[in-house]
Amino acid sequence: MNNRPPPPPPPGSQGRTSTPPVGFGPGSSPLAQVQARPLSRASTPGANSAGTASARVTSPLARSAVSPGPYPPAGIHQTAQYSPRPMASQGVLPGQQHIAQSPQPRQQLPPQPPVVGQQFPPRPPQPGQQAPPQPPQMQASPYPPQPGQQYPPQQLSQQPGQQYPPQQPVQQYPSQQYPAQQPGQQYPSQQPGQQYPPQEFSPQAQEQYGQGDQHAHHARRRLYPQQMAAAYSAPPPAEAHSVQPGQGGYIVPGATDGLTQQMNNMNLGQEKFMQAEQTEVLSGRPDLTDLDTPVPEARLPPGTACVGANACDERVQRVTLGAIPRTDRLLRKTRLPLGIMITPMATGAPEARDIVRCRRCRSYLNPYVTFVDGGRRWVCNLCGLRNDVPLSMDYDKETQMQLDRWQRADLRSTVVEYVAPVEYMVRPPMAPSVVFVVDVSHAAVQSGAAAAAAKAARDALQQMGDADGRAQVGVIAVDASLHFFCIRAGAESQQLVVGDCDEAEAWLPAPTDLLVNLRECYTEIDAVLERLPTSGRGGVGCVLGAAIRAAQKMLTTGGRIITVVASPPTGTAARVDPAATELNSWYKTMAADFARAQIAVDTVFVGSHLGEASVACLARYTGGSVLQYSELTGPETGRAVAEIAHMVSVPVSMESVLRVRASRGLRVSSYYGSFFLRSMDLLALPAAPPAHSFAAEMAIDEPLPPVVFFQSALLHTTAQGERRIRVATLAVPTTDSPHTVFAAIDSRAVATLLAKKAADRVLTARVADAREALMHKTLEIFGAFKTECTKAASGAATQLQSPRSLRMLPLLTLATLRHPALRISSTERPGERTVDIAHILSLPPELLLATLVPRMFSLHDLPPEAGLPDPATGQIVLPPRRGLSAEELSPRGIFLIHGGSDVILWVGRDADRALVHSLLGTAEVRSGIIALPDLSQENGNFELNKRVNNIMRQISAMCYQIWAPLVMVCPEDGAPHVRVRLGQRLVEDMDPSAPSYSQLLAQMRDKINRGNF
Ligand SMILES: [Zn+2]
Repeated sequence: MNNRPPPPPPPGSQGRTSTPPVGFGPGSSPLAQVQARPLSRASTPGANSAGTASARVTSPLARSAVSPGPYPPAGIHQTAQYSPRPMASQGVLPGQQHIAQSPQPRQQLPPQPPVVGQQFPPRPPQPGQQAPPQPPQMQASPYPPQPGQQYPPQQLSQQPGQQYPPQQPVQQYPSQQYPAQQPGQQYPSQQPGQQYPPQEFSPQAQEQYGQGDQHAHHARRRLYPQQMAAAYSAPPPAEAHSVQPGQGGYIVPGATDGLTQQMNNMNLGQEKFMQAEQTEVLSGRPDLTDLDTPVPEARLPPGTACVGANACDERVQRVTLGAIPRTDRLLRKTRLPLGIMITPMATGAPEARDIVRCRRCRSYLNPYVTFVDGGRRWVCNLCGLRNDVPLSMDYDKETQMQLDRWQRADLRSTVVEYVAPVEYMVRPPMAPSVVFVVDVSHAAVQSGAAAAAAKAARDALQQMGDADGRAQVGVIAVDASLHFFCIRAGAESQQLVVGDCDEAEAWLPAPTDLLVNLRECYTEIDAVLERLPTSGRGGVGCVLGAAIRAAQKMLTTGGRIITVVASPPTGTAARVDPAATELNSWYKTMAADFARAQIAVDTVFVGSHLGEASVACLARYTGGSVLQYSELTGPETGRAVAEIAHMVSVPVSMESVLRVRASRGLRVSSYYGSFFLRSMDLLALPAAPPAHSFAAEMAIDEPLPPVVFFQSALLHTTAQGERRIRVATLAVPTTDSPHTVFAAIDSRAVATLLAKKAADRVLTARVADAREALMHKTLEIFGAFKTECTKAASGAATQLQSPRSLRMLPLLTLATLRHPALRISSTERPGERTVDIAHILSLPPELLLATLVPRMFSLHDLPPEAGLPDPATGQIVLPPRRGLSAEELSPRGIFLIHGGSDVILWVGRDADRALVHSLLGTAEVRSGIIALPDLSQENGNFELNKRVNNIMRQISAMCYQIWAPLVMVCPEDGAPHVRVRLGQRLVEDMDPSAPSYSQLLAQMRDKINRGNF
């Protein structure tokens, strides 16, 4: 029993990030004004080092389609490189010629140290060798097979390690897959049915790694390239959508007749595979259905350890390159950006117990580790260190029961969540606390901002799940004075006005009752919020700085500040001149303070010219969200109330830190998102909402191993007051071949990363520079592809050539150039783009793509199933996507253009009036913004209304509900400003800020031909 668990992590390793606030403890400003004293403001020299903004994620669209992304093994890019030998004599599939050609002297291999990727079965105990530690029960009774332990075939078919042909010379692998042999040592028995070694491995481990089964296991693998080939060439979306795992494009490994069938189809598969390799010529219109296909799964070389887990959910972690260049030199050659998008809270995660971490790199146990030395040690897949397996992995001391390590969630799932033990805390988990800071100045009351904020706050408090009764709420109204509310259960609330206050000397007029328990004082808080819009003096001015300092003092253990701003901040240090182009650094300094104090600031702007660029720093460096409404009239108010209420009430992880680890040789070079950068691999996130994403661009410092791993760990406090660690692990193969790199690009992830880089650049440089850099990067990538991977390497090509994987990139670049954050504007106003930039930086890839490239549906000819629940999944079926060009619009048509946060309804001049009535409840169509009515309770035929509402709800759900978009009605002969808005969303067409798609292709071709980029 000398296998001790690794020592508990030093409290500082992660827990130190939740340092309690300093400098403003409770009661620092007791009651009367005479006792008030200025706050000692901690200086924040680190503020400037902070990274920047943030991004969004879309949830999984209809993603039943088989991935089209080809993933060729090295060196087989060109058709001519394929061996002409018939498959029968070759005996292997295209991707596996390495195996067939390589010597496989398993028996002759000298003993060598296990390496990452080594698999079971481990070496049997040697004579005289100390037996592995076993709990008493284990010796007596090997694990009986459990029905639930069988891997379902579907699951197997999705295992990354099984899907792809080897990319590496195989001699690296056979030696890793089998234990090194000792002279004279009998290799583990291959007798079927024999358990080996019986004490240590569960039946399913035997099944997967046991010797007897391993050959069959590999035999199955050999079919994969061909399946993938079939998958790649299964094109058209309609067909692809019908392909389910286990059918069509995928084999079911357990099905015996699947083998036969695949053998019969072999020639066909090879052909298709080669077709998929071919370079495409970009011309004509883009096929937007490509945007809804699933992300190509990373196909790891055989031999990569993976214990029955599926690949990491693309919503949680997504890498730009499905095959990473082995060296920095190759990465530079391809000009591609290498980065990872992390949305830690995008999905749920199974709960894991008993944290096991690598002693050296501190990474967490995950499905890609390997066990060696008879299962007594595990090899860290990130750094290669052999760690002792803690006894607790196989034996539960408390219940005195043996455990099956293969049932551990962290060995079975690439995304898991641990309940953190006390070592990960420096204080008890904080209670969810919210302080509303609402502008009640004359401008705010007039614009409706105060009323909307009050309504949203009341709705949010109603929706907030305060299951354990710990939530705390405070309210500050702000104009030229601060208005506090002393709230006591069962008593009339008292409004305390503090005039003439300064942000440097903000103080609280009462020691208690300003931040109160939500459950105990719900009625009183609701009453305060109800009369909030009229609580101010209606004057000019908004001492926002003093208000947030006061809120900071109320949140002694951290929490969220929700600010609603409708007039430019006044005061002294925090004053912002709306016309100034320079940032007021006071807000950035405060943000650094807040990040240390675990306070997140969410900001809502109503109107413009509000010093957005300065004030939004509060959100950018604290993990907060930013919303903006130009005006609140009519349906706009309802939308603002819904979105603000959702922002406040959605369960948000608090006092979080995110650490990104990667295999040796990889280094994070920059981050994009809403966070405070504490060190190069540690992001401080006072709040981590589910729809906030972080992008990390990586650099390659030294040649990489055949497979690299990214592991992100988010230490956070849930709304229920639990300290938890969310761990996600992603495995990606590497390659020496530029062909392979280009074939495995995730172009949507590349476009997301490039958009984030461009948005980040707008913060510090001119918009024109950011646009140029983006365009230049796109050209460089296509230029590098031409040079490295096409026959016309240096000659002129008549058309733009692209690997299949990159064919959406020109359109996505075009769409990014038209995003409001990067759009050319003749009347640039300070702060105008702030909120748009914040959105690009914090949106997860799927949400960002939904806003960049809207979905256009034709409503006049909806397929019968569209807009109704799929009988199999219950999900609403979305209609087929139409191209985003005015060419698609027809006078008899009705079209919906859904951009996630905005929706346009285009109605042709000859559209069927009955259909319009069925949609809107009226046959009259006027330009303007409406909330799509819900006519489901009305009498009459409103079938189209029901289905379109379903479609809107479905897209909203895919966008994490963060938007409650209104519908801009655009008749064919409607108002000019509405048609301009439509023109901006038809990204294939020409626009003042970007060329048309075909013009862009021609420009790119010419520039690349000239080498002029
Ligand atoms: Zn390690």
